[in-house]
Order: sequence, then structure tokens, then C-alpha cells
Amino acid sequence: MSEDTLEENSDGDDWHLYASADYGAAESVENTEPGKEEDSNDDWFDGDDFYNQGESIDWEAPPCPAPLGIAHVIKIGVCDHCLHRIGGRRTQSSGFEGGALLRKEAFSRDSSLSESDIPELCPLCENLFDDVGNITERIIETLEGTKFRSMQLGIHIPKDLLQSEDAIRTKHGARGSKPLKTSFATAIQAEMLRKIPDIAFVKEYPDVMVTVDALTLRVDTDVRPVFIYGRYEKLARGIPQTRWPCRSCRGRGEGCESCEGTGLQYRESVQDIIGEPVKISLDASDSSFHGMGREDIDVRCLGSGRPFVLEIKNPKIRDTDLILLESKINSNCPKKVKVNSLRWCHKKEVSRVKETRSEKSYTIRFKIEEPAPREQIIDAINGLSGVTLEQETPKRVSHRRAAKTRKRKIVSISNVVVEEQEIQFSLRCEAGTYVKELVHSDEGRTVPSVMSVIGRECEVLWLDVEEIHAD
Ligand SMILES: [Zn+2]
Ligand SMILES: [Zn+2]
Repeated sequence: MSEDTLEENSDGDDWHLYASADYGAAESVENTEPGKEEDSNDDWFDGDDFYNQGESIDWEAPPCPAPLGIAHVIKIGVCDHCLHRIGGRRTQSSGFEGGALLRKEAFSRDSSLSESDIPELCPLCENLFDDVGNITERIIETLEGTKFRSMQLGIHIPKDLLQSEDAIRTKHGARGSKPLKTSFATAIQAEMLRKIPDIAFVKEYPDVMVTVDALTLRVDTDVRPVFIYGRYEKLARGIPQTRWPCRSCRGRGEGCESCEGTGLQYRESVQDIIGEPVKISLDASDSSFHGMGREDIDVRCLGSGRPFVLEIKNPKIRDTDLILLESKINSNCPKKVKVNSLRWCHKKEVSRVKETRSEKSYTIRFKIEEPAPREQIIDAINGLSGVTLEQETPKRVSHRRAAKTRKRKIVSISNVVVEEQEIQFSLRCEAGTYVKELVHSDEGRTVPSVMSVIGRECEVLWLDVEEIHAD
């Protein structure tokens, strides 16, 4: 079809979930986990219970970094990590070591402190910081074999813990102490960097997205896709742009007899001829294809080719020599599909490519039933140059398009060739022009048409896209 279509992205890419993800966004995803409520009800310790213990606790103690404040948080049982975090004192080291230093200082000021009854779990973090090493190990294990440069971290911590932590920290911690979630994320990042020094932690567009559930210590990783822009030429007819599932089995399961188990209506597609070598090169799981419109299966696409973006999913390799890749693709089916101008691109190029409407040049060849004078045909066809067509939705696409009349301009017409009853010409027209319908008129749905100006029935033989005037 000569009509450019705006295909829905059926892949349901969930980037928007992550695009602006801070830790809160990851939390809302994780919060829906079933069974969590019952778990926390069974759990006797909810972070507030320390309020009932120890008569020697001075509830009116000044906040940290006052020595009495530090003594107070030690009495309620904070771990070394949290002691350093809310203690408000500079120490030589940070984290557990920094906290241990503060504790030692406090003990030397007041030896009775070391004898206070300390609960097993830190009321601020429930000993979460003990798991940092374990969590980073799991992240690294899950991403084994995957190359990446940047990571975004999403952390879920149960709300009740966050609330009780906030209450204690605000009352007894030093002003400006970092909240639990930020500190936990920072601790994981620091540990990750210790193990893999060259990763960048980012807030958007990461190579990998990692979510950590602090309650279950579950780690989920999502390797983000990479995108390659290019232009393709389709040199042979009979190849669809994207994969077509088999009409009988719809590509489900093992396929069927009529598709010989492939699940495909057509064995080949532009998507796979280009995508398969890329998939192999980047050790990816799949690809998805976003073209700047599409041509009919029986239409070639020549000239400098049609712009597209290939989305490569779950790539274990995110970088490769594109010149080499281009020649791999071009040697895959050299008589059918070729690519040029490959470059890495950003996801947002997908919508740009899909939304761009540009003029196109075509060559079309058709047959007339009864002969007509040559000069008359040439004049009539040339007379359509500059004309604005009114095109009703063609019959052949009416099952998937709303009926409406579009106005589309023919910018120019050239090279009209008449060979007895076969006629061929080239034209440049506005995006969205139905070119086959311009010729045969679609039973009068396109006005004017070649059929109407030469007064003969026209049968389209073939159509080529000669150029897409974009990018
Ligand atoms: Zn703690
Ligand atoms: Zn089938």
C-alpha cells in the first residue's frame, strides 16, 4: 500500500514505568505483592516496640549529635550503620565502621551505656544494612554475562518501617540525617562500585534497571533495549515489513501444518532479515521493528531506503562495530533487503520515525484494457500533476480504517511511458496518498484518477517506492 501507517507499538514497552522512576516508582510496583500484609501482621516487631522497653531511656534527650542524643539512640538499639547515619558526627570512616567509632566514643564517656539491654533488631533499619553484601552479590549474579555501563536502582522498603524510622530519626537524629531509603540505596551503590568500579548510577535511561525488595531481599533485573536507526531498501516483492503470524495458528504454540511449524505466514520479513544478524551480534532475545510507514508486501522500496528503528531486546552486548554489522546484514539476503546509514539512537527516535510524514516518489506500471492514442494518454496523466485528490478510504483497507475522505496532493508527475497497452509513470506525492487507487480509482472512490482521465479500466502491474523524502 502506498499509504503510510502509524502502527501501534504492540510490544507494550514499559519504559514509562522506569523513565521517571525514583525509588517511589519502584515501590509502587512492588507494593502489590500479595501476602505482604499478613507477613507484617505476624511479625511481632514493628519498629515501635522499643518505646516499651528500658526504664533508663531518657525520652527528652536532645537530638544527635549531642552526646546525650547519641547515648539515647545507642540505648534504643540502633546498629552501627544507623548510628553513623543519624549521629551527625564526622568520623574517619563511614557506614558500620563510622558507627563503631561513635559507639566507642560514647562508651568511653559513659561506661554504663555498654551494659544497656540492646534489642536484636535495629529499630531504624531492622538490620537491613547487614544484607547489602548479599544483595549486591545477587545483582551481580543475575547480570552475569551481561555487559552494561549504567544502572538504575529501585528499592522497596515496607511502609511501616519507613514511617517508624522517620519518626525516630526526626526526633532523635541529627538534623539533615539521610532517610533510610536513600542511605540503603547509597550503601548498595557503594558496595556495587567496590565490586564493579566502572558503572554509573543514573536516574533515567539506564542500561539495566535493578529493583530490590528489602523485605524479601528479592532482586529483579531488567536489561533495557538498545536502538539502532537505519534505512532499508527492499529489493524484492513478496516480503512483508514485519513478522506476520500464521493465519491458521496465529503463531501460537508450536505452529501448525500450514506454516510448517514456523508460526509465520511469510517465512521472511524485513524485520527478521535485518533483526536476526543484529540479535546474534548483540546476543539478544528478540527485536522489534519500527518503520517510517510501510509499503505493501508486493511493493519494493528503493532509492536511499525507508528509515526505521530496530529495537533490540535484552542485549547481553550493548556495543558493536556498526560498519561490520551493516555488512553482516547486507550479506544475509543481499538480493532482498539491504540497509545503510546505521547509527545508535535513543528510544525517542522510535516515535519520531513513526510519526514523520514525508513526501514520497513512486513509479507505477499498469495495463489498460483497450488501447488509446499515445499522446492523449501522456497528456491526460501529466495533467494530474499538481492536482489535489479526494480519496475515500480504499476498499482493501476499510476493514481496519475508519471511512473518511482525505485530500492528498500530487506534487509532480514525470517519465510517462506508453508501451502499447502497458503504461508506466513516476510521481511525487504527499504522505498518505493511495497510489494504486490513484491509478485504478477504486471504483470511483478516488477522484480524479488515471482511469477517469484516460477513460479506460486500469489494472496495476507493480509499484515501487523510489524515494522517501525524509531525514
Ligand atoms: Zn540500623
Ligand atoms: Zn501456523
